[in-house]
Amino acid sequence: MSTAPKSTSKDALGARRGADVLRRLRESPPAIWYRGEQVKDVTTHPALRGGVHTLAHLYDLQWQHADVTLYASPSSGHRVSRAFMMPKTHEELASISRAMKVWQDHTHGMMGRVPDYISRAMTGYAAGAAFLSEADPRFGANAIRYYEYLRESDLSLTHTLIPPQANRAVNAAKQADPFLAARVKEETDAGIVIRGCRMLATLPISDEIMVFPSTLLKSPEEDAPYAFGFSIPNHTQGLRFICRESVDYGRSHFDHPLGSRFEEMDAVVIFDDVFVPWENIFLYRDVKRCNEAYARTGAVAHMTQQVVVKNIAKSEFMLGLASLLVNSIGAEVFQHIQEKLAELWVNLETMKAFLRTAEVDAKLDEWGVMRPAWNPLDAARNLFPRLYPRMVEIIQQIGASGLVAMPTEADLKGPLAEDIKHYYQAARAEAFDRIPLFRLAWDTALSAFGSRQVLYERFFFGDPVRMAGALVSGHHRQIEEYADKVRSFVRESRDEALEAAPRA
Ligand SMILES: Cc1cc2nc3c(=O)[nH]c(=O)nc-3n(C[C@H](O)[C@H](O)[C@H](O)COP(=O)(O)OP(=O)(O)OC[C@H]3O[C@@H](n4cnc5c(N)ncnc54)[C@H](O)[C@@H]3O)c2cc1C
Repeated sequence: MSTAPKSTSKDALGARRGADVLRRLRESPPAIWYRGEQVKDVTTHPALRGGVHTLAHLYDLQWQHADVTLYASPSSGHRVSRAFMMPKTHEELASISRAMKVWQDHTHGMMGRVPDYISRAMTGYAAGAAFLSEADPRFGANAIRYYEYLRESDLSLTHTLIPPQANRAVNAAKQADPFLAARVKEETDAGIVIRGCRMLATLPISDEIMVFPSTLLKSPEEDAPYAFGFSIPNHTQGLRFICRESVDYGRSHFDHPLGSRFEEMDAVVIFDDVFVPWENIFLYRDVKRCNEAYARTGAVAHMTQQVVVKNIAKSEFMLGLASLLVNSIGAEVFQHIQEKLAELWVNLETMKAFLRTAEVDAKLDEWGVMRPAWNPLDAARNLFPRLYPRMVEIIQQIGASGLVAMPTEADLKGPLAEDIKHYYQAARAEAFDRIPLFRLAWDTALSAFGSRQVLYERFFFGDPVRMAGALVSGHHRQIEEYADKVRSFVRESRDEALEAAPRA
């Protein structure tokens, strides 16, 4: 399997359509394993095809909204995805959010890993190529060439960062087997060989994988063999993806409205002596640089912009869903229900405000790219993991038993159809309208699909505990400023007290 040096293919014509996505997955199938068997064709496999066809549809959608989602490539002139744009102005930056919202509106934020997430990351890495070149001039050039290849070919990527969850008390080198976590096994003139495992990659049904450096490396010597950043095709020899059980039950859109459409899949990634040519490598054996790369290149800010666009679409969906549930059963008369709708509305407006501030306060960074302001994005990525589980809880509290008193499509078409029509009516909805609405609420708040969404929001951007720690140390100076203000106020009171005559 080829991991040949990347250069812009002469055949690349810019933005793809759904048929191109399906064709590539059939022609170059990654080694995806599901329940003990290697999947021959992800486009037809029952566990994966729902998500695969939605992914393909998103590529058609970008052509249906081409004015918003595409722009002219600076190199070829072809129309390419705006998710690859390196913005130079505030307007260009905001136009990227609008483009990303098209996909998120279609998936209601339920496919966090649509390809623009990593497209933004790779755009950030290429923008900050000079930072990568400080270690080795080849690395910066590789990042730019690879980014241009992605942009012109419109490929989708998954990514993987975390070592397997064996013993979290010690680093990768001190696990029972030093090759448990993916590490460099061999280095040659042509490239490196990787052996071991990475914990997770969402969207294994993509074209390529970006193996990002973990930002939590500590020891410059011990962690060096685990410190690298590269990208390779998913069908590379020796690369294997082991999927979790699908949350698509293989049922109709009526029965399983979200799971049947938006299963993006998560997989453990195994590197069985995978060869990576130097041309595909962006970072290598440099622990300090690996830890700094996201922030310095700007990749993390550009990725988080996508995350907040997703959060907005998801919050809009939760508010709309809750409002329909309330209306259908006449629950708006209760004050606590109004309070819950208000909470969902505030969550949505908070996310919108974070995005707007990140766009308006954006500045040209040291690479000449308009980088979204980090503070509001950092606030958003720390807040949403707490907001989303609460939003799901609100759906459960509003829906109550309605979330389980819910017949299937087969019941509606079966001999009890008349009973169902009668007994499942709601104050403001016929039974046959109420049932699909409550099935949607069940898939949001109760099904395997719904539970996985909650876990995703809690963890996908990192452990919330350590993210909070990073926030406090990252914003230390700002926090100190406020501490100074309070310190002055306390001193004033103290000085006043010391100067004043003792009270009788
Ligand atoms: C649905 C889903 C999709 C994901 N998709 C991807 C993906 O596409 N690519 C990718 O790279 N990653 C992905 N992740 C992984 C994600 O990055 C991790 O879940 C996250 O970084 C936390 O790591 P962990 O899951 O290994 O938890 P662990 O690190 O094993 O933590 C387990 C528990 O121990 C605590 N803990 C562990 N170490 C410490 C410490 N040093 N200090 C304090 N507490 C500690 C944690 O707080 C947590 O409570 C995904 C995760 C989920 C759930």
